[in-house]
Amino acid sequence: MLLTDIEFHEANTLKEASEWMGQYAPNARLMAGGTDLLVDLKTGRYGTSHVVSLNRIAALRGLATTNGSLRIGALTTPSQLWASTTIWERFPAILDAVRDMAVPQIRNMATVGGNIAGAVPSGDLPPILVVLNASVILWSSSGEREVPLEDFFVGPRQTVRKHEEILTEIRLPYPPPRFGAAYAPFALREANGCALAAVAASLRLDEKGIIRDARICLGAVAPIPKLAKTAMAALVGKVAGSAAFHQAEEEATKSSQPISDIRGSADYRRKLIGILTRRALESARQRALGGLQ
Ligand SMILES: Cc1cc2nc3c(=O)[nH]c(=O)nc-3n(C[C@H](O)[C@H](O)[C@H](O)COP(=O)(O)OP(=O)(O)OC[C@H]3O[C@@H](n4cnc5c(N)ncnc54)[C@H](O)[C@@H]3O)c2cc1C
Repeated sequence: MLLTDIEFHEANTLKEASEWMGQYAPNARLMAGGTDLLVDLKTGRYGTSHVVSLNRIAALRGLATTNGSLRIGALTTPSQLWASTTIWERFPAILDAVRDMAVPQIRNMATVGGNIAGAVPSGDLPPILVVLNASVILWSSSGEREVPLEDFFVGPRQTVRKHEEILTEIRLPYPPPRFGAAYAPFALREANGCALAAVAASLRLDEKGIIRDARICLGAVAPIPKLAKTAMAALVGKVAGSAAFHQAEEEATKSSQPISDIRGSADYRRKLIGILTRRALESARQRALGGLQ
């Protein structure tokens, strides 16, 4: 389908973008890389008469450190995450999500903000960012607010973001000692495949290898990236090893709410969740012990 009758606005500032979104509401959509939005407009998933591009707002690009946290600008691309020494040194689990995401052309165009704000249930970055305790900053002319990422999603392609709010950055606290995280996705092909199921996990261990904190987030098997809270609770106080991981695997599977579709059945996805939970927990354990890059 050809795109017709859309007015394209290139904002130079956040204020301009937010005001245009307000002025043309509800018939306006923000655009970052456009890799999801343009597909959705062309296939008719959404109709809109105004597109407000954020691409000229340079302040939304790149990574910076402030007060013990990493700030990722919303327009940062997956390729830029891959090229960041901070990500390699402090947040290697993010590389698990970026490594096989789409294809190089998409990794150069797509943005972290778009991956989150689009709220597609199979998006690769939300689950790992949730277990890393990320929050997002939402900006509008009337003010700025910080929302924990785990509270941001409300349904497929639906979030708590108001129409004229712009997701400006993602904040990630630096991990404490003996902390490890990992992301284990499964798609029908190694690259450029939408995840059928995915599990992100993080562990904080004490000196004796006992789990003091655990987070598990399921991707592509629920309407939103879903924290598997019973599985998380089952891990705390246990030795980080196969007995504890086996119990978590069962609890995580029970927490999933998969659907059957053209890519796989709900039963197949449920089985995957168990396997991926074990994989993610084992990699998180190795990273917490300093043994896996
Ligand atoms: C061939 C192909 C392969 C893909 N493979 C993968 C994959 O393997 N894994 C994966 O996770 N995704 C994949 N995607 C989906 C897509 O590339 C990502 O979700 C991407 O990160 C979206 O970012 P974007 O900047 O292009 O978003 P856009 O398309 O610009 O926007 C997406 C949505 O977010 C909103 N939005 C964007 N930025 C902001 C902001 N700063 N504030 C508020 N709202 C905003 C837009 O209004 C829109 O609703 C693929 C897409 C294609 C076309």
